[in-house]
Amino acid sequence: MEPYRDALMDLDSNLDIDIWPDVKSKDRVSFAVAWKQPKNQFSQYPNLKVISSLGAGADHLLKDTSIPQHVALTRVVAPTLTEQMCDFSVLSVLAIIRRFHDYNKQQVWADWKPRIHYNKKDLMVGVMGLGKIGKKVAERLAGNGFNVSGWSNSKKSIPNVVTYSKEHLDPFLTATNILVCLLPLTDETKEILNLSLFKKLNSPGFLVNAARGSHLVEEDLIYALDMGLLNHAALDVFQKEPLPEAHSFWGRDKITITPHIASITEPGEVAELILDNYKRMRSNIELLNRVDRYKGY
Ligand code: NAP
Repeated sequence: MEPYRDALMDLDSNLDIDIWPDVKSKDRVSFAVAWKQPKNQFSQYPNLKVISSLGAGADHLLKDTSIPQHVALTRVVAPTLTEQMCDFSVLSVLAIIRRFHDYNKQQVWADWKPRIHYNKKDLMVGVMGLGKIGKKVAERLAGNGFNVSGWSNSKKSIPNVVTYSKEHLDPFLTATNILVCLLPLTDETKEILNLSLFKKLNSPGFLVNAARGSHLVEEDLIYALDMGLLNHAALDVFQKEPLPEAHSFWGRDKITITPHIASITEPGEVAELILDNYKRMRSNIELLNRVDRYKGY
């Protein structure tokens, strides 16, 4: 947390910031910033009004039942973070269709073997979640010449993107080859990437998961890859992070692993957003990027 404290102090040297567990007085805490916090902490702060997630996701806050209902939850919607997610998604999709994972393997063996790659015009990229990140990713992929569709709770209208609302998951999946998951983790979206979903994808099928590890049923992915239902998966997030050394994903040619780096928050940018909401709280102005506890994101 030190870089975030320093970035906040650079913006406003009058701020009074403690870093847990070194909190001088629990009564004086009105605003907290948290990322993967230990459970059952927040009920100890009687004057806490707002908790800001350090990232775009707020699932770590929503599943913490110790947070009193009157405490408002916010998250970070930062242009740089969104841009990085766009880069990661486009990069992953391009690497898949140009078969970079095959060339990475070949290089180890000094194996000069050109392969037939996929033509983007023959494939549909389906983006799950068209929120702050997913919408931009869909636009970016469409701008890159891909056929793009998107699925979200409510129907969206995005130029050059075929959109589906929640109840039309099946037609979305059957038209999709490369599935890019950018959903928030909720009760409804947990384990949504499972065998029954993989079976519905158009062939050849591919998966990019840059959202949360718990969207994916890991053993179903292995089965789908082994059975040829999916050709490749690019995963940035995992049920358990860091991914344990003994995890079977490591040894699989058909899985590309990155260590949760699709985006990395920049303290300076995040500090500005947090400070803005802190000032809003103090002035009783509506907070930005509130998390809806009822919807779960
Ligand atoms: P967001 O703005 O809240 O958007 C969420 C999208 O998902 C919305 O379009 C929403 O539909 C849709 N959605 C939610 N539940 C759904 C359901 N049950 N069925 C269909 N659609 C559903 O979130 P965001 O800022 O784009 O971020 C998405 C997630 O990316 C975060 O929650 C986080 O977990 C992940 N993330 C990962 C990294 C990384 O480094 N790997 C970095 C940043 C974020 P509506 O639009 O209709 O509400």
